[in-house]
Amino acid sequence: MENPLGTLRTPKDLIAAGLAAPAALAALEAVAARYAVAVPSPLARTILTAGAPLVRQFVPDARELDVHPAERADPIGDARHSPVKGIVHRYPDRVLLMPTLTCAVYCRFCFRRETVGSSEAMSPADLDAALGYIRNTPAIWEVILTGGDPLVLSPRRIGALIAALDTIDHVKVIRIHSRVPVADPARIDDTLVAALKTTRKALYVAVHCNHATELTPEVIAGCARMADAGIPLLSQSVLLASVNDTADALENLFRALAAARIKPYYLHQLDYAPGTSHFRVPLEQGLALVRALRGRVSGLALPTYMLDIPGGAGKVPAGEYLSPEGDGTFIVRDPQGNPHAYPPAP
Ligand SMILES: *Cc1c(COP(=O)(O)O)cnc(C)c1O
Ligand code: SF4
Repeated sequence: MENPLGTLRTPKDLIAAGLAAPAALAALEAVAARYAVAVPSPLARTILTAGAPLVRQFVPDARELDVHPAERADPIGDARHSPVKGIVHRYPDRVLLMPTLTCAVYCRFCFRRETVGSSEAMSPADLDAALGYIRNTPAIWEVILTGGDPLVLSPRRIGALIAALDTIDHVKVIRIHSRVPVADPARIDDTLVAALKTTRKALYVAVHCNHATELTPEVIAGCARMADAGIPLLSQSVLLASVNDTADALENLFRALAAARIKPYYLHQLDYAPGTSHFRVPLEQGLALVRALRGRVSGLALPTYMLDIPGGAGKVPAGEYLSPEGDGTFIVRDPQGNPHAYPPAP
């Protein structure tokens, strides 16, 4: 074991934990040589209980090495919109700030799978430069901490980062996107929650969660510690084949989130990251699922179905911005109204 909590980091670890078949060793090692692997031990137990919907999300699969022609290393064009290291500035009023590229768990469908997994956090000089960019750009109203996963940083470092953002007057909102509440809920302890406390800014936490079985009692308790401290919670989910691509699975997920005081915010169409074809749900099917839920599920529990235009033109609600071309291709309009082709699911 490499750390006290015990994180599975190799195909051998996964096999020893019963998450993969011994016969799959060579195939899984080929995947692990290409993409980061980590599963915290408590999550491994949840995966064993929940079965397929969680195995698919977290256990490597040989199909990750099959790359479809529409898939790209930087599917949503982060690099094109990065003015300084660690910042993505695509929309005038908000930036992404990525203080680390480490995650607690590596999701097998991750849209940043080509960049996450490096164990390096930003150097103090790079972080200063990124904060300087935010400080010198008055249009930035919101800072979204993402990565990687900002909540793998120590409470001391997170607290210092939030304190630095607190001193920038034009920043009114801090948003943290994290998989840690699901992947490693024990990290969301009183010390971490205290580090998130800010009196000068509104701070939101957006929890990445794709299946109701991810919301174990421990996960719900970790989220409750944040909610009880006055932190509004949102969710982000990704529509994934054989994980949550039925109306029942989505209904159960969104109801469980809302009941845990987590407002479903976005349901994302899967981006075209390399080796993720086996997770892709056709847009027509996603649109039909979202239609099926409207009316059946409280509006409080319904997120917006979003897609990110390949190459970096931005995110738009899938339902309103699309027109079908008939062959599975869609024309999607970016926030400025310019048309882009959206490729059909393989
Ligand atoms: C997704 C994203 C955001 C946040 O978008 P919202 O619609 O405000 O949730 C901000 N910046 C970038 C670069 C993004 O990709
Ligand atoms: S936690 Fe987020 S960034 Fe990390 S692997 Fe999962 S989807 Fe990617």
